[in-house]
Amino acid sequence: MKKKSEKLIVKRSRAGLGLFANTEFKRGDFIVEYTGELISDEEADNRGGKYLFILNKKQVIDGKRRNNIARYINHGCTPNAEAESDEDEMKVRILARRKILPGDEITYDYGKEYWDEYIKPFGCRCTSCLNLGKK
Ligand SMILES: [Zn+2]
Repeated sequence: MKKKSEKLIVKRSRAGLGLFANTEFKRGDFIVEYTGELISDEEADNRGGKYLFILNKKQVIDGKRRNNIARYINHGCTPNAEAESDEDEMKVRILARRKILPGDEITYDYGKEYWDEYIKPFGCRCTSCLNLGKK
């Protein structure tokens, strides 16, 4: 189950599939765009799902399509990437927060809403939590 692009690889991680660097990223580098269908906040509530990315108060990106490679990025409590919403261009970019080496799994902080709904009930499986032995 491998998908390859030049800079990124989707493969199995401890939390299901994950997105891994296949090259080095420097701090601030653009990694990938979170793409999907732009829908209203109301529509997002109706649809639900794990791949909704809140762009602003009224609009949400539904990134469930498989060609949205950024959907494979897992949550991390000490992430090496961050999501940046560009409301003018209606885009979400994933940027490196620090240097990322080839083979590193890319993670960003999903935020409190997602955490409470999808992570808290099952326990966080990100690398830093597993290393600390937390649940
Ligand atoms: Zn964690």
